[in-house]
Amino acid sequence: MSKYFSKKYASLEAYVPGEQPKDMKYIKLNTNESPFPPCDAVVRAAEKASERLQLYSDPDCTPLVKAFSSLFGVKPTEVIFSNGSDEILNFAFMAFCDESHPAAFPEISYGFYPVFAELNRIPYTEIPLKNDFSVDYHDYCNINKTVIIANPNAPTGLCLSLSEVEEIARSNPDNVVVIDEAYIDFGSESAIGLTKKYDNLLVVGTFSKSRSLAGARLGFGVACESLINDLNTIRFSTNPYNINSMTMAAGVAALENNGYYMDNCKTIIENRSYTKNALESLGFSVLDSKANFLFARSDRIGGAEYYKTLKKKGILVRHFSKEKISDYVRITIGTKEQMDALLAATEQILREEKS
Ligand code: PMP
Repeated sequence: MSKYFSKKYASLEAYVPGEQPKDMKYIKLNTNESPFPPCDAVVRAAEKASERLQLYSDPDCTPLVKAFSSLFGVKPTEVIFSNGSDEILNFAFMAFCDESHPAAFPEISYGFYPVFAELNRIPYTEIPLKNDFSVDYHDYCNINKTVIIANPNAPTGLCLSLSEVEEIARSNPDNVVVIDEAYIDFGSESAIGLTKKYDNLLVVGTFSKSRSLAGARLGFGVACESLINDLNTIRFSTNPYNINSMTMAAGVAALENNGYYMDNCKTIIENRSYTKNALESLGFSVLDSKANFLFARSDRIGGAEYYKTLKKKGILVRHFSKEKISDYVRITIGTKEQMDALLAATEQILREEKS
């Protein structure tokens, strides 16, 4: 830390993103990216947009708003785009949390939530999960705090039902409820429709996972017009051009080719169930994930050891050192071939452990 760094950030512990090592070619199952490339139309649209990079991008995201609102059945005034969903989550902490609206989120969840709270000096409560790692929605009803829940949750993959999400929103009319749906397209139900009924509900989503655009950085928020206006106040006070022209064009083309991405999600869901069954037959306990990853542990090998040995064999998964989950690893679901490579390596590791 330099002597110039503001004391207000002295104790800030920055978020640590999943590793992107360059030393060799890995089978990358550690950051929940899609194993499928964007469709051709997306690549062409981004290329075309690159020809006009001398101009600023459209701060109103007009073509993106149009394509999104017609696909998702929301009004253009009910959506906002961001540079990855991380940005809109930060906007939400800035806009809807303070001393009188402290934040509440699950103790085991997306590691960025406490960082955003610390960054913005917002008091927060981390609520423990149940013993089975599920979120108890009762814990968030009438809580009188700004609620942030990843649904499905990460890194567990477990999800709340739509009626449970609705009850959380209904019972907290004086606070915003943020539902982070980064993994919604892999088998659970979106709360976007509920934003018409609850003016305190903000649904956040991303093009990083199901729409194969992690590197383009495109996230979105859906809520009633007044919440979107608040978020735009923050956006226009930080970076009105937060969506670059190539990403905007790629996003429009991705929405126009939604079928390609939804088919890929079906493949991921099939590969998830194939991998879960195979890991279970190797003696692993695997949570019932509705996301593009599995959260798994074995009695035969610790989480840190399994992660390290897989890495030596060229396969990257994610291990979290937090005590309550340190026995587990999070495995992104890739192609069938990638999952077979993971399973073969796992069998070998277990055999080596025994001998
Ligand atoms: N929410 C959750 C629960 C996540 O796991 C992630 C991915 N790390 C994000 C939001 C942010 O994704 P992005 O910024 O790529 O949209």
